[in-house]
Amino acid sequence: MTHEQQQVQPDPCLPCQELALAGAVANAEYDWSRATDCRVLMKRHRESGECAAGQPA
Ligand SMILES: [Zn+2]
Repeated sequence: MTHEQQQVQPDPCLPCQELALAGAVANAEYDWSRATDCRVLMKRHRESGECAAGQPA
């Protein structure tokens, strides 16, 4: 198996998935402050350069 990095499926990194899920749950529960927290954490996570999804903030 000499696969180099495949660009076939964009795989969002785990923190992104968790934050997106937490934000969706917070929205569903009308917990706006928690939803905002998730957005801030997501932004900070991406700006920190540790995001594996490779999406510039
Ligand atoms: Zn990420």
